Amino acid sequence: MSLNYYKPGDWNAICDSCGFKFKASQLRKRWDEFMVCENDWETRHPQELIRAPIEKVGVEWTRPEAPDVEDGPSYISESSGNQETTIPSGTFDGSL
Ligand SMILES: [Zn+2]
Repeated sequence: MSLNYYKPGDWNAICDSCGFKFKASQLRKRWDEFMVCENDWETRHPQELIRAPIEKVGVEWTRPEAPDVEDGPSYISESSGNQETTIPSGTFDGSL
């Protein structure tokens, strides 16, 4: 049946999705504001409306790093007799 007939209060309109001609009363507004026919009408996918929870990636609390210790420990033992504290001169010839 041709759509070019008179219907009081109605008019011819083109579906924004498929491009076919319909009467305006047969078109519905889709979620993306397109005026579409019954075959092209669909609801918005619910997954598009999901909001991901905001992730907390920081730590609960912190404190400033301790200052560097300027005076290190003494590596000279005071309980094991005499110790050499200098680098000996010469080269090692492999003999022990
Ligand atoms: Zn259509």
